[in-house]
Amino acid sequence: MPRADVVVVGAGIAGVMTALELARRGQRVELIDRWEPGHPRASSTDYNRIIRAISGRDEFYTRWAMESRLRWMEMQAEVGQKLYYECGTLILATEGHCTWEDATAETFDKVGVPYHKFSKADVAARFPQFDASSIGYALFEPQSGMVMAHRAVLAGVELFKRSAGTVRRGRVTTDADERLHLDGKPLEADLIVVATGPWMADMYPRTVKPISQIVGINVLYTSTPDGSTAFDHDHMPCWIDHGEGSFGLPSVEGFGVKAAVVIPDKIDLDNDERFARRETVVRTRRYIKKRLPGLVGEKVVDSKFNQIILTPDTHFIVDWHPKHDNVLLAGGCSGHLFKHGPVFGDFVAGVGVKDYGTADRFTIAGRRKLSPKESPSGR
Ligand SMILES: Cc1cc2nc3c(=O)[nH]c(=O)nc-3n(C[C@H](O)[C@H](O)[C@H](O)COP(=O)(O)OP(=O)(O)OC[C@H]3O[C@@H](n4cnc5c(N)ncnc54)[C@H](O)[C@@H]3O)c2cc1C
Repeated sequence: MPRADVVVVGAGIAGVMTALELARRGQRVELIDRWEPGHPRASSTDYNRIIRAISGRDEFYTRWAMESRLRWMEMQAEVGQKLYYECGTLILATEGHCTWEDATAETFDKVGVPYHKFSKADVAARFPQFDASSIGYALFEPQSGMVMAHRAVLAGVELFKRSAGTVRRGRVTTDADERLHLDGKPLEADLIVVATGPWMADMYPRTVKPISQIVGINVLYTSTPDGSTAFDHDHMPCWIDHGEGSFGLPSVEGFGVKAAVVIPDKIDLDNDERFARRETVVRTRRYIKKRLPGLVGEKVVDSKFNQIILTPDTHFIVDWHPKHDNVLLAGGCSGHLFKHGPVFGDFVAGVGVKDYGTADRFTIAGRRKLSPKESPSGR
């Protein structure tokens, strides 16, 4: 596509990485957001996000995650800021709840992702922070870890500006025909990428809302024991504990341990105050007692209350609007988009400039719920 006027709406990780890749392809790009990039209502906020190839039997996301890991490291070198900590990720496969974990091991063998299969005794010896007595086995993926989410969004914006991109504040709205407007006028450009994360459902009541659900998630950070480094990222991996509906990240840069118990909650994206929920405190403490006994008695030192937009099959959305042929919708995060940010942005940019079409899995039509064995997220 010759040099064109491009607008990207939404400066979360999906929009920022797409805008950056479009600018690098020589397009004239403006990135618009309602609030300052990095703001705490966005899904892409918070200190950190897990990056791991673990995706059940889904080879597509497994490969994307492997590629993204390299891109995050490149971006870190380019911007000269710490964006990625390779602390590894441990999947705890609870007895009677191992379908997704079994499928992941098969995919790793096929795709060539390095991993170790640990028995309970191995986990106890290698990572004594975890009480592994209730697990069947664990998979450890060493080439994985955490991306510093908030910093990565800002780093992406910085690189975008260096590539001659411009950033603007504004709220883009849609009319009854799902046509875009800004400041009371139609929003016009050769290409408009809409990457408004969970807000996309209300902006597109006919196109996106029917295939999406907005889920609020409250996570807590817990202090580490006085005088101990055991729960720091250089001694402890990230972990996924589907059997307990939980995942977590070790302490990094002093933020504390993020032991997240997923309690799907309602959320009003614009109006809710982002306080910790009482139920989360109770259930996180119960989880810590069972799985991380060394943290019993430690205190909640921080919390985040954010949201995901969930599609029925947990696949992302990268598709043209059915009526407005210059509008490309990019998002549908389903709780696992952050890690793929660099590859996702590159892919969306290529679809946007018509280098190739989108992937079947990303189209709006034909969505269906997958079984936990088929699903990339195990949900
Ligand atoms: C608790 C939690 C834990 C997670 N853990 C992980 C993890 O470990 N690994 C992982 O890969 N992913 C994880 N995710 C998912 C990941 O954070 C999201 O997939 C990702 O951040 C989605 O980014 P996005 O750019 O699509 O949306 P957002 O970050 O929400 O960005 C959308 C942007 O659009 C802007 N916007 C909205 N409406 C308008 C409008 N009308 N006009 C202008 N701008 C607008 C918003 O202000 C916002 O900045 C997690 C999510 C949550 C909530």
